Amino acid sequence: MTDQVEHFVKNIKLAKLVLRLMNDPEQRIEPEINPTYPLGYRYPLAEEYLGRSAREQLEEMASVGLLEKEFFSKELGCPIDQSINLSLKRHCPDCDSTNIVREELIEHIPCGLVAPETEFKDGKCPKCGRELKKLGVDYLKQGQKYVCQNCQKNFQEPVEKAMCLRDKHSFLLDDAVEVNLYSYKVTKLLQEEINKALDQQKYMGDKIKELGFSVQSPGILKGKSGVAHDFFMVASSGGGFMKVNIIIELLGDTEIDKDEVLSLYAKATDANAQGVLLGAIPVLTAEAKAIAESYQIAYVEADELSGASEKMVRKFAELVETPEERITELFSPK
Ligand SMILES: [Zn+2]
Ligand SMILES: [Zn+2]
Ligand SMILES: [Zn+2]
Repeated sequence: MTDQVEHFVKNIKLAKLVLRLMNDPEQRIEPEINPTYPLGYRYPLAEEYLGRSAREQLEEMASVGLLEKEFFSKELGCPIDQSINLSLKRHCPDCDSTNIVREELIEHIPCGLVAPETEFKDGKCPKCGRELKKLGVDYLKQGQKYVCQNCQKNFQEPVEKAMCLRDKHSFLLDDAVEVNLYSYKVTKLLQEEINKALDQQKYMGDKIKELGFSVQSPGILKGKSGVAHDFFMVASSGGGFMKVNIIIELLGDTEIDKDEVLSLYAKATDANAQGVLLGAIPVLTAEAKAIAESYQIAYVEADELSGASEKMVRKFAELVETPEERITELFSPK
């Protein structure tokens, strides 16, 4: 396994995103144009798991071959920061006003006036007052042109400008840069790694079933608050008032801090779980461990998922007070 892949598998948030993608028929993360974002687009699905830096993380994964980039669309962007949040305007080439209208221009041959059709009220020339008689004889249509309401000049081509809504930089539309948007697709390499992760998930599920529990993974429990909480796995036994739910969660980061443990505790309490088992990949901070202990969250630490799963099954067995012989039997080769 290359370093990058190993790093990925340790990153549980990414792993969860990819597991979600595997269930998607397209297996693709697509961008969405969204003006509330500084660059003007975002990756909503990836953000659910990776937060606001989703785009950078997708790029990073693509650069190491875990995701494949596919062309999605070409947009125009600000030459300074590549934002596609642009305000487009047409300007008068003479005075730069944006107060321009597109009109049919009429040339009155006897007096030489060229003016918009709307100014020839009741078919009379606004300059000499004579009536327009016959098209091609005493007057001509010059076609659609722009007329500036500020300086009254008319012209064929307005100046097209864009203003970046992020840094307010204004530039000629011709000077806009091309910004390619990409979608990201799961590669074979990544799929293999995920299959290994799925094997671990199955391994854990099977062992916990052997201990007499039913297993849901991902496990969803509805909380007292009405919110449905999503966990890596939920092991249950009994039914009705006697039902016992044990939450099994995986968290991965360079170091799992106390906030992540507190948030897990809050979700577990809301979901009315009788026990919580946390697999930390690779480690918890000292503070996070203290919090876990004071809230009676059982935890194991492991360098990667494959190491974590056996430790977690063992810890689970202890948690549900499985006799020592039974634990030995559970792990003895059949
Ligand atoms: Zn800009
Ligand atoms: Zn003008
Ligand atoms: Zn006239």
